[in-house]
Amino acid sequence: MTGAPAPGPGPGFETRAIHAGQPPDPATGAVVTPVHLATTFAQSGPGAHLGYEYSRSANPTRTALEACLASLEGGVAGFAFASGMAAEDAVLRLLPPASHVLLPADAYGGTYRLVARVYGPAGYSFTPVDLADAAAVEAAWRDETRLVWVETPTNPTLAIVDIAATAAMARERSALCVVDNTFATPYLQRPLELGADAVVHSTTKYLGGHSDVVGGFVALTSPERAERLAFVQNAVGAVPGPVDCYLVLRGIKTLAVRMERHCSNAAAVARLLVSHPAVDRVFFPGLEAHPGHELAARQMSGPGGMVSFLVRGGEPAALEVVSGTRVFTLAESLGAVESLIEHPARMTHASAAGSPLEVDARLVRLSVGIETESDLLADLEQALDRVAP
Ligand SMILES: *Cc1c(COP(=O)(O)O)cnc(C)c1O
Repeated sequence: MTGAPAPGPGPGFETRAIHAGQPPDPATGAVVTPVHLATTFAQSGPGAHLGYEYSRSANPTRTALEACLASLEGGVAGFAFASGMAAEDAVLRLLPPASHVLLPADAYGGTYRLVARVYGPAGYSFTPVDLADAAAVEAAWRDETRLVWVETPTNPTLAIVDIAATAAMARERSALCVVDNTFATPYLQRPLELGADAVVHSTTKYLGGHSDVVGGFVALTSPERAERLAFVQNAVGAVPGPVDCYLVLRGIKTLAVRMERHCSNAAAVARLLVSHPAVDRVFFPGLEAHPGHELAARQMSGPGGMVSFLVRGGEPAALEVVSGTRVFTLAESLGAVESLIEHPARMTHASAAGSPLEVDARLVRLSVGIETESDLLADLEQALDRVAP
């Protein structure tokens, strides 16, 4: 699988990742977008300004990031937020009161918590559903369903959902289809081109790419909804600071080359896991045996850098594996240059215990970084050998 081609004429993905929204600074010629720390901007007369008045409403460094990412996702506009959760919250604010939401049965835990425990008490309802099961989606659909939330690949079992089919179904029924594209990134998958109405990101992950900034992003296809989201962004004010915007912009410049290495390292890791006696089952869309393999090959240009697996020896063995690596760091989060390992049931997905989203305690999740492939394989092998039957 190769990199993402440019959609139609115009500069390619990598070129836009480096240049879109970031011409040399007209004031100085600086080739890097300046970090504009100013909170307010001089006006030549009341209301006469250069497009910037106050930095909650708009900030030039944020504008550069928003233009760049909107271009990469193919949206009419993009909006940056202080975190992925703030981006999700802004999108949910597009819904009319008392809306019903279809959530993936294995949605990101924070998404589930936001919908269930913030929007739920405010009069919204939701149903967790396996979006790969058309009959289940049909059964869960209500007259008040206004949004289908898609994550693909899903977290932590990396199931693949058919974006085009789900978006078409939502459109037919006048509901929105929103895709959380955090795991795939626009380099590997562009949901708006497949019919989705909006894309959300935690830019904290692959887009930032270096575990040093928390951020979120939304891109949309409809100018009217974009206008409403711009209003929400300013009215609610969950905006990122200019230094955060700069860090995400800088991360995006190398997204393409990083994703290529994430994908090839993850494929090598998946092959090792499949053949290791301590491993019961491997979840990775690049494996032919993965139930979503063909769909992934159709809607993604690479398998991504996330791999998860069930340890044969049960939870005690899984805990020993996640504590036994040296190159892979035991930590939450994902998507950065360094490899991470974690135990979802006790870490990222602990809040799902007892809910329909509860995770198998034998599961280990890897965010495969861009270190030397042989170092990653050797590290995992020595950790798995300790618990091999
Ligand atoms: C991390 C993450 C989020 C939340 O983003 P934050 O930046 O942590 O607020 C949402 N969706 C997915 C898939 C994530 O991995």
